[in-house]
Amino acid sequence: MGIGRKPFTRVVHAGGEPDPQTGAVMRPIYQTSTYAQTSPGEFPVYDYSRAGNPSRTSLEEALAAIENADHGLAFASGLAAIQAVLQLLEPGDEVLVCDDVYGGSGRLFRKLYAKYGIGFQFIDMTSVETVEAACTAKTKLLWIETPTNPMMKIIDIEAMSRIAEQHGAWVAIDNTFASPIFQKPLELGAHIVVHSTTKYIGGHSDIIGGAIMVSDPELHERLQFIQFAAGSVPSPFECFLVHRSIKTLAVRMHQHEKNALAVARFLSDHRRVRRVSYPGLESDPQHALARRQMSGFSGVVNFDLEGSYDDVVRFLGKLELFSLAESFGGVESLINHPERMTHASVPPELREKLGIGPTLLRLSVGIEDTDELVADLEQALG
Ligand SMILES: *Cc1c(COP(=O)(O)O)cnc(C)c1O
Repeated sequence: MGIGRKPFTRVVHAGGEPDPQTGAVMRPIYQTSTYAQTSPGEFPVYDYSRAGNPSRTSLEEALAAIENADHGLAFASGLAAIQAVLQLLEPGDEVLVCDDVYGGSGRLFRKLYAKYGIGFQFIDMTSVETVEAACTAKTKLLWIETPTNPMMKIIDIEAMSRIAEQHGAWVAIDNTFASPIFQKPLELGAHIVVHSTTKYIGGHSDIIGGAIMVSDPELHERLQFIQFAAGSVPSPFECFLVHRSIKTLAVRMHQHEKNALAVARFLSDHRRVRRVSYPGLESDPQHALARRQMSGFSGVVNFDLEGSYDDVVRFLGKLELFSLAESFGGVESLINHPERMTHASVPPELREKLGIGPTLLRLSVGIEDTDELVADLEQALG
């Protein structure tokens, strides 16, 4: 059986041939830690579930397929996947990181890995010159998120890959925001793709998970060894849930995008809204670059409300369909106040520099009815 070539087909069929033994269309969940051996050290495929489990294998095949990668690896969380990439490095190596990086990634770099002698430099990667000037012989990795969170800066993946190539460095893209449906970094020259599957890939706000996709066989071998040796693996049941979610990823992403665009257009025209940021808006300063490297713009919209923090609190109190919660990428619509919630741990000077102030709000626009979501925002702004 094939898995097709187009995204809507691949997400349904990847990693999911019927169970050869019973014909079950949905494969069973292999809730086991160990496997019987035929003689000491001899076993058909699996010996121990940290090293491998059929439910994880199915998920990893699907993860590879949706990024058009040769290999996928599943992890217990997005940060566990990011950590596995860091474990490729040696003391003395340097990493260039986009300044507007996910707060948890910045914390992992600064608080847990800098002490092992790995250097992290946080720079504005929307400027090619800044990145060229920062690269040295020690630079081993460019750590990039695009679009960034929460300011939705777009970083040119092809340009970054060219610079990295000249310095023999790897480019890793945290592709969580765009999802594999809308952006395929490996096709733009990146070496490593990372996801927090907690977000769009999981899509239902019910699991924590992570993934790495690569096509280079040597990188795959090293990362697979790290996955096994460090042990941050997901359970068989969570593998099943993430794999199940992948089957609807394409339809969900298109509905997220449709709703987000409608919400972004509505907010841009509203007098109580000062500024809207969504790369799918033609007026967005980085729209052209976004169009070039993305085939869609996901479901996250940021805006600044006119007025004070008290006005923001009043507005939040009136919303009926958007829950006040961290995270994004689930089927339900959420609203987040970055300054006091997701980005509270970012140093205040950096928050100010990035424009994360008291009136900034981030919407994760869900897959509900488009008009009803817009109407909810309209009544709460009124
Ligand atoms: C949430 C998130 C992570 C961390 O993932 P967890 O699954 O929470 O560990 C990493 N990168 C981005 C862009 C995220 O949004």
